[in-house]
Amino acid sequence: MPNLPAAGLRALAFAIARAWGSAEEEAAIVADHLVEANLTGHDSHGVGMLPTYVRVFRQGCLVPNRELEVVADSGAVLVLEAGRGVGQRMAKLAVARGIERARSLGAAVVALRNSCHIGRIGAYGEQAAAQGMVFLGFVNVADHDPIVAPFGAAEARLGTNPFCAALPSRPGAPPALLLDMATSTIAFGKARVARNKGLPVPEGTLIDREGRPTTDPAPMVDRFEGALTAFGLHKGSGLAILCELLGAALPGGQTITDPMRHAVVNNMLAILIDPGRFAAGARGPAAVEAVAGWIRSARPAPGVDRVRLPGEPERESRERRLAEGVPIDERSLAEILEAGAALGLERDRLAALARGEG
Ligand code: NAD
Repeated sequence: MPNLPAAGLRALAFAIARAWGSAEEEAAIVADHLVEANLTGHDSHGVGMLPTYVRVFRQGCLVPNRELEVVADSGAVLVLEAGRGVGQRMAKLAVARGIERARSLGAAVVALRNSCHIGRIGAYGEQAAAQGMVFLGFVNVADHDPIVAPFGAAEARLGTNPFCAALPSRPGAPPALLLDMATSTIAFGKARVARNKGLPVPEGTLIDREGRPTTDPAPMVDRFEGALTAFGLHKGSGLAILCELLGAALPGGQTITDPMRHAVVNNMLAILIDPGRFAAGARGPAAVEAVAGWIRSARPAPGVDRVRLPGEPERESRERRLAEGVPIDERSLAEILEAGAALGLERDRLAALARGEG
């Protein structure tokens, strides 16, 4: 199947978000976010999420055009309730408030509670870094069965609980570092993409229902049998647990032990820091650049073309996919068209939009 143009995928996502009732601004935020995830190479968090969003909308677990409610506000700490609002807009608004606070106070902590899926966490790191802020995000995933086994376990106890850190660089330049990752060895969506393409997942990323290693994603994706492994043995497993505790438990959001509606909820604790307050003057940004250059200058290991910093693979993918289009497999596209049809949209019109013929 030929690659699809970013503008076509954006039009497709916009049409579906409008059909579930999002106002134009919200639909545009969702569409931009999903297509950006595809462009950066994270198909697991791109337009392939639309069938899930339509399903949870039809369950009453995704609420369009929700306003954030302030639960607590002590200046440096702001707690916001999203009430299953459309995650990409809820998180973008929450981070914007955190940036504003950090600009006046030097640092701010924003707890976003009970949002519908907020997508690629790197988007919020980029949002903060573009405003000159450092970003740390601890996120949990709740409201569905656990799918990640903590270190030493033969069964799942957690979601894929992502962590993200972003450091700004010069104005107008991309972040100096954008570390954005699931705390499972691979994101669940990557197992879904592999299943849709009929491919195995890499060794060490999955266990079957007996706790034995497997590379077949189908039982996990189709029936939640078995579990993804937490990355980095006991150390990554510790970070995954921290995301649950700091991202959701302490601020009072929905955790993996709460009753679930088989939808998807994210809670995010975002820490924003104005690096100007470190009073390092020009030395701070210069030292960041020097360290980045030092890392990049390492002799590449056999089979590696060059050493990259976190965030660079995504920028390379973005450039390539803007030029060449986004590869979407037939099954994923069919599922998206089916989801659109369930909202009363015409399949043929959606397919034409996706091809950029809108
Ligand atoms: P990944 O493994 O592809 O990348 C993780 C990090 O490693 C990135 O920062 C990337 O830049 C860096 N990286 C990758 N290859 C590199 C290389 N060769 N050299 C240097 N750095 C490199 O990402 P992932 O863990 O599969 O996560 C995918 C996406 O899923 C993320 O955007 C994450 O936010 C998202 N996610 C969201 C949720 C949710 O519930 N909202 C849950 C889990 C994951």
